[in-house]
Amino acid sequence: MKNENTYLVEIKGLVQGVGFRPFIYRIARDYDLCGNVENRNDGVAVRINCNESVLNQFISSVRKLSPPASYIESITYKVLDYEDFCEFKIVKSKNVSDSITDVSPDIAVCNDCLSDMKIQKNRINYPFINCTNCGPRFTIINNLPYDRDKTTMKDFIMCPDCQKEYSDIEDRRFHAQPIACDVCGPEYTLCYGNKNIHGTDDIVNHMADLIDKGKIISVKGLGGFFIACDAKNENAVLRLRRIKNREAKPFAVMFSSIEKVKEYAYVNKYEEDSLMSFRRPIVLLKKKKEPAASVTVGFNTLGVMLPYMPFHYLLFEKLKTSVIVLTSGNISDEPIIIDEKKDFEKLSVISDIILTYNRDIHNRTDDSIVNVINNQERIIRRSRGYVPSPFIVNMNVEGILGTGAELVNCFAIGKDNKAILSQHIGDLKNIETYEFYCETIERFKKLFNFNPTVIARDLHPQYLSSKYAEETNLQQIKVQHHHAHIASCMAEHKINEKVIGVSFDGTGYGDDNNIWGGEFFVCDFKSYKRVNHFDYIAMPGGDKVTEEPWRIAVSYLYKAFGKKFLEFDLAFMKNINPESVDFLCHAIDKKINSPLTSSSGRLFDAISALTNICTYSKFHAEAPMRLEAIIDKKIKTSYPFNVKNTILFEETIEQIVKDLKNNVSPSEISTKFHNTVISVICELADDLRDKHNINKVVLSGGTFQNKYLLKNVEILLQNKNFEVFSHCKIPTNDAGIALGQMAVASAILK
Ligand code: ZN
Ligand code: FE
Repeated sequence: MKNENTYLVEIKGLVQGVGFRPFIYRIARDYDLCGNVENRNDGVAVRINCNESVLNQFISSVRKLSPPASYIESITYKVLDYEDFCEFKIVKSKNVSDSITDVSPDIAVCNDCLSDMKIQKNRINYPFINCTNCGPRFTIINNLPYDRDKTTMKDFIMCPDCQKEYSDIEDRRFHAQPIACDVCGPEYTLCYGNKNIHGTDDIVNHMADLIDKGKIISVKGLGGFFIACDAKNENAVLRLRRIKNREAKPFAVMFSSIEKVKEYAYVNKYEEDSLMSFRRPIVLLKKKKEPAASVTVGFNTLGVMLPYMPFHYLLFEKLKTSVIVLTSGNISDEPIIIDEKKDFEKLSVISDIILTYNRDIHNRTDDSIVNVINNQERIIRRSRGYVPSPFIVNMNVEGILGTGAELVNCFAIGKDNKAILSQHIGDLKNIETYEFYCETIERFKKLFNFNPTVIARDLHPQYLSSKYAEETNLQQIKVQHHHAHIASCMAEHKINEKVIGVSFDGTGYGDDNNIWGGEFFVCDFKSYKRVNHFDYIAMPGGDKVTEEPWRIAVSYLYKAFGKKFLEFDLAFMKNINPESVDFLCHAIDKKINSPLTSSSGRLFDAISALTNICTYSKFHAEAPMRLEAIIDKKIKTSYPFNVKNTILFEETIEQIVKDLKNNVSPSEISTKFHNTVISVICELADDLRDKHNINKVVLSGGTFQNKYLLKNVEILLQNKNFEVFSHCKIPTNDAGIALGQMAVASAILK
């Protein structure tokens, strides 16, 4: 044929397990092309006969129309020897099972399926409807390649109707592994007193009624159980707080629609994109109106998500309320419950009624949490909808296991140039969570055919993730915590050169045995120089200070004023036993259980206590979060500070005390304090650029979850023509550490 070549088009990225081959088939058919498509180790390969202009149209259609959960990293093509094809075929994959590492995350039910749910005979209101473009994935997979018999759908034998759709390449459900209908698929049961209610319509009607009456219900979701109640019913929400023993941490809510979200929260275009994305995370929005007061407990933000399972849509059709609380079904720091039989008693304690279904959850996932800062989605908790999408890094990380940190742990495994981060694991100090950690590492080894040869771990000798590393008997590379933070952000942005690293967080083990967390580095992957840091301050009571921020406030006062501060008559001191304060000063003098820290998190704690916003913290990071919540953006002033060999805040504290004596509002003090920290970063960055001739600034660490801080630091540094890098797709908190550990290990091994 004239002008026709045989082209080989290679598409790399996340293109497996997301319906990519049938998608290519349909595009090829639309263009009337002959050839074939097959899975390869690192993507898919397409052979087509056409001329160059059709080729370009074909490629642009592939880019434009690709399935929602796919991610195209690159499309390249070359001319092959001419081959005569008479049709377009999906050909059997050549020996790819070994290194396919791509598993799709779970995908929210798509609009096509929602309409099918109203018209397809065997799927009317069927709550497990799914297709090639949507439905459960990671949570049901136990092995690769992704086939139905390697998922928890294997016990459900397809009926002839489903089988027909599954085998028909023209069908929307071609090779949709979890395909199901009301004849052959999973079903819900509502366990209510001694009764078990079956049948979706009955269940939905009952449940809607129970929620509207103020009951609390455990609901089996995609990755675990969630606890639901009417978010407008103050009594129900209060009762949920009591039985979950959760006094002060805001609850996330699910709204029936984006329109309803907008009644209660301010939503910009980027936030709307995140809310509507197939990943369906919880998005932290600025609150406009309160559902029930106990949902947000005084915070000015609202954690919001939209329905993502067919059942959620069915429920909202019947509910009177347009918003429900939906919080993880767990007890305090334990992992989210996934099996109602195993944990029946726990679920019975935290709810009145249990809604379950008869398909197992294999991989546990929590709801993911994001916020939008400077028009970019920033992930805070990475789990459902995001995991296990790999990250492509510009280095070889094969065989490296990054064991992560401790408090908000997440580990990472390396395959070739891909880092696969685990779902949010949680606080390893909790024994059940540690078991979940060990179990998930084993599952990742099996699922991704991963054999660790090197362990990258935190320097902290007591972290359970470090102890895990010790027990493997493999080569260990110890990575300093704050270096790992910066390396994580560098890996995310594929930077491999010397940078100015600003690593701010609550705590991390330093190589002088002190606790770090307000660090300025000049570093690359291999090594770092700690060029400046917050001046050390004693933490009287050690770890206790994180729960009792007043202790660190006293420590800062003592450092700035000596015992004179005892005469200041500060409001926050009125609730504290004077003897405890005396004892604290004594402990600092005698260095009794008073480790030194340069942590920025502790400075935020201190100011939160000083202003009497939070003297006792009821959940992790409550003090800085409450301090941020009262910011008044109109205030542009700040406090003085001093930069010598270290960064000193004595003058800052003196001025804050003066403001307190003059009855300046906590809101104004908080804002001026935030502005001060922003100035510290900008001033140091200027200074380090001059000294080291480096223009790239990398911001990482949990403190940068603070929206006001990150937003303004980014803008101000960009105005000074810095190239600024902060986290988007990897958490800036300790859940991002594992990637940094891995990157450092890779550089050292090279
Ligand atoms: Zn669908
Ligand atoms: Fe950290």
